[in-house]
Amino acid sequence: MKSTGMTRPLDTLGRIVIPIEIRNTMGIEIGEPLEFFMDVEQGFMGLGKYSNGTSCKLCNSTQDLSYFKSSLLCKHCILDLKGNVGVTPIPVTPKEEHKVRRSTLQLLKSLRKLMREHPGAKQSEYAEWLGVSQGRISQITKLL
Ligand SMILES: [Zn+2]
Repeated sequence: MKSTGMTRPLDTLGRIVIPIEIRNTMGIEIGEPLEFFMDVEQGFMGLGKYSNGTSCKLCNSTQDLSYFKSSLLCKHCILDLKGNVGVTPIPVTPKEEHKVRRSTLQLLKSLRKLMREHPGAKQSEYAEWLGVSQGRISQITKLL
């Protein structure tokens, strides 16, 4: 919460005008119910859209509401959801495949290096140095 820097006088009947800039920013229409909030200890008072649990859970709209899986949603948000508007899918990466591919590549690099340093070594020795099975070395040497 921040100060807007705007001030308005309270009139003799206790009324106040909410500046149009604030109404526009907050999406408050004329005739819309507002709710007062106060913190007596802090000497603070605020205003918010009155929801009473009867507004769209996503956009706070109070029009064209329907229940969807025990949440109240407006027609607009439901249509957005149906049309995947504003939907950002979480990318699903096939982790296992990726991991295996990368480790094969790393193993290949390490094996190349070892073969340069120890050209006469046996596959079983390379396997032991790299901490993998001899079968894996045999498999990888086919890629070289
Ligand atoms: Zn909505």
